[in-house]
Amino acid sequence: MTLTLDLPAPVGLADALPARALAGRSAVVTGSTSGIGLGIARALAAAGADVLLNGLGDPRQTEEIQGALAAEFGVRVGFSGADLSKVSGVEMLVEHAMRELGAIDILVNNAGVQHVAPIDEFPLEKWDLILGLNLTAAFVATRAVLGGMKSRGWGRILNVASAHGLVASPFKSAYVAAKHGLVGLTKVTALEGAQNGVTCNAICPGYVWTPLVERQIDDQARAHGIDRERVIKDVLLKNQPNKAFATVDELGALATFLCGESGRSITGAALPVDGGWTAH
Ligand code: NAD
Repeated sequence: MTLTLDLPAPVGLADALPARALAGRSAVVTGSTSGIGLGIARALAAAGADVLLNGLGDPRQTEEIQGALAAEFGVRVGFSGADLSKVSGVEMLVEHAMRELGAIDILVNNAGVQHVAPIDEFPLEKWDLILGLNLTAAFVATRAVLGGMKSRGWGRILNVASAHGLVASPFKSAYVAAKHGLVGLTKVTALEGAQNGVTCNAICPGYVWTPLVERQIDDQARAHGIDRERVIKDVLLKNQPNKAFATVDELGALATFLCGESGRSITGAALPVDGGWTAH
């Protein structure tokens, strides 16, 4: 069995879709200052959409990301630092987006956090945070934008769930519950939007190469006293049959496809991007 440590070359964003397929559309991507959210925001901008970024972190770094995306793709790029673990933060984000971009055509609910502990030791505040950010924030944002999308006859909602929206692992009770809930919310949203040109799908990644995962590798290596290569093979990619991380560019390309006209009949789906994990 071979272990793929080298990442594949980035997907050519320009090759992934018809040029500027999303020109004139506006998108909000939650948790997009890093990782998967940034990959999706970048892909949507490459396809011509104006984008509102969101996330926590260093404001200077965020400004750099904003400037770089706007310059590279010639689209409007805004930023909201709203904390989406609070309902008021989600409402602020939506208001900000409507002020800055006008209508919201595309909503990507991506922000999420994780905590790993056995159920009998799982802190209630971590449960509340994970459910609040990974599930309630998606519901509140969807509730705020769905009516407008339906009345305009076009909309795309993408929920970044996880392979853990389809199967479970021990010690991830809150995360697995939230991601299964997000898949359920996806189906209901799809049914409610279906006759008005609004689609809603869940993207369910296995392990994706992001700063979050990169940090986990070193932590796990220290904790287990094993080297990085063994952490990747024996811990992280144990359940991922292709033994390779997905990349944020692959997720960006899928998100952009779902947001385009070719994706208009795909709705209510939970799409695994997991190298075969959930085929077990
Ligand atoms: P990441 O840590 O690289 O990025 C998380 C983003 O969310 C950042 O922009 C961060 O600032 C933002 N964020 C965190 N707390 C926030 C809050 N309270 N309010 C607003 N923004 C907040 O993580 P990632 O790996 O890119 O994960 C993104 C999503 O993908 C999550 O929902 C995660 O569950 C899901 N996912 C990740 C993987 C993976 O292997 N990386 C696999 C499956 C699913």
